[in-house]
Order: sequence, then C-alpha cells, then structure tokens
Amino acid sequence: MSEKIKHFPGEELSGRDIREGKIPCIKHRPNVKYLWSAGIAMSRFVEGMKEGKIIGSKCVKCKRIMVPPRAFCEECFRPVDEYAPVKDTGTINTYSVSYVAGDASRIKEPILVAVIDIDGASKGMGILHLLGEISDWKQIKFGMKVKAVWKPSEEREGSITDIKYFKPFEEV
Ligand SMILES: [Zn+2]
Repeated sequence: MSEKIKHFPGEELSGRDIREGKIPCIKHRPNVKYLWSAGIAMSRFVEGMKEGKIIGSKCVKCKRIMVPPRAFCEECFRPVDEYAPVKDTGTINTYSVSYVAGDASRIKEPILVAVIDIDGASKGMGILHLLGEISDWKQIKFGMKVKAVWKPSEEREGSITDIKYFKPFEEV
C-alpha cells in the first residue's frame, strides 16, 4: 500500500523568510535589451522579411522545405542543410472571419485571417496571416491562390508584419 508523503524532511522557506533576510539573497536588476531572441532560423526569416523574401529551410535527407524555417528537421532530428527563399505566393489552407479585434473589442468590418500554404514549401507548410483586398469574405475559397502585399522597403523592419496581407491573385 502506498502512502502519500505529507511532510518532506527539511524546513520550507516562505516569501517572508526571503524578505526578512533569513537566507542570503542577492538583488540584481538585469540590463535587458531584448524581449526574446529569435534564434537561428527565425532570425533568418525576419531578416528575409526586410528584403521582401519569405525564407524557408531545407532538409536534404527527407527533402522537405519548411516555412517558417526550422533550425532542425522535426522528422529526422538533424540540423537543416540550407536556408533559401520560397515564393511569396500561396494557397489558402483554411481561414477565419473574425469580428473581434486583437484587443478583444467587437468590430463591424471583419478581420480575415488565413493559414496560407506557401508555394515552394512542402505540403502543409504555411504561415498565419491576414487577407486583404477582398470586398466580401464570402468570395474566399479553400485552395484560392494569394500573393503577399509587402510594405514599401523603407518601412520594413524585419517582422511578419512587413507583409501587410495576402491578396487574391490569378496565376498566369
Ligand atoms: Zn529531415
């Protein structure tokens, strides 16, 4: 029969013990300059955004092109072999019509959000972004071709928002 341990040996510390200096404490204010590090793969991705390119990463072993890029292939657990731009066009995989804004307030004109499978990337590789230049959301179809609408180069800052939205596009 197993019995739950109700009391571990030793003395528990409370917040009060720390405040009152019962144990040695060091106060340190870090000189934080960045909220987070983008890492190897995402850094290449956001740098590509500045240049108006969508960067993917390639695993030669399983012949996959991943977008957004990964540093490691999650199929064969090895570092990716190269980073290269893919197209800035794609296909609507799924979408959502949202009448709720980013701050949770109600809005009259819906925000159109879609997962876009990027051309040149492997199947199922896509990014979440906005759709634009669509007068009526009922025109949106699964599998519809879309193309990135980029901010002017001088306004780009290395962010996914360097793409303003994806608009419907006819392949020629
Ligand atoms: Zn692989």
